[in-house]
Amino acid sequence: MRKNIVAGNWKMNTTVPEGVQLAKEVCMAVAQAPGIKCEVIVGVPFTHLTAVNEVIDKNYVGLAAENCADHVKGAYTGEVSAPMVASTGANYVILGHSERRGYYNETIEMLKTKVDLALEAGLKVIFCCGESLDERKAGTHFDVIKNEIVGSLFHLDAEAFGKIVIAYEPIWAIGTGETATADQAQEIHAFIRGLLAEQYGAQIADDTTILYGGSCKPSNAAELFAKPDIDGGLIGGASLKAQDFMGIVTAF
Ligand code: PEP
Repeated sequence: MRKNIVAGNWKMNTTVPEGVQLAKEVCMAVAQAPGIKCEVIVGVPFTHLTAVNEVIDKNYVGLAAENCADHVKGAYTGEVSAPMVASTGANYVILGHSERRGYYNETIEMLKTKVDLALEAGLKVIFCCGESLDERKAGTHFDVIKNEIVGSLFHLDAEAFGKIVIAYEPIWAIGTGETATADQAQEIHAFIRGLLAEQYGAQIADDTTILYGGSCKPSNAAELFAKPDIDGGLIGGASLKAQDFMGIVTAF
């Protein structure tokens, strides 16, 4: 049975003390909430990983980096490698977020390398994919998503693929207040699960967690999570306040 996950993506927000406080609040709230039906993860800036790792209890909250380098070590000033991320205690890394693809020119090929290095370092990967508004209007969104998934993930064998969580994030819904309708999201999630079934078989497709991301909030999470192929969310803005984030965590 696949697991439900709600993962926060703090992006470039909070100072270290603010992030530590937020992580403590989330962890305490998860520990005290009865019957949580999902794994909870906080995705935090590199600078916060070690400090946040010290204040969370991994029985309640997992820890993700928001990126890692496409090299293991060496003369890459300013970069942070997957082994470095793993050494902080993080157990996940978010890769392929549309902001990384768009602002930092991360290509499908580069993400393939990052996925491999993350898995080699023992990290699980939350792999983001999704189309722009122009691509959706042009009707190419299925192809865009397929290319991103096939190009960066389908070289993995079945065992390695078991460490991948997919996050469908339509770019037009990220930080815009515009959410894909639950039906629109379900259509893409079912399409993605179909791709996984073709490549890895029905069992692995069925076991893979597929998250929705894009202006997900307490008021719309329950409707999204009620869909059969939506297994939780990757949450940006609403992960920055423990109360809002918990409103989504408890939406199952
Ligand atoms: C994201 O950037 O991963 C995201 C889903 O952002 P938001 O929830 O703010 O739309």
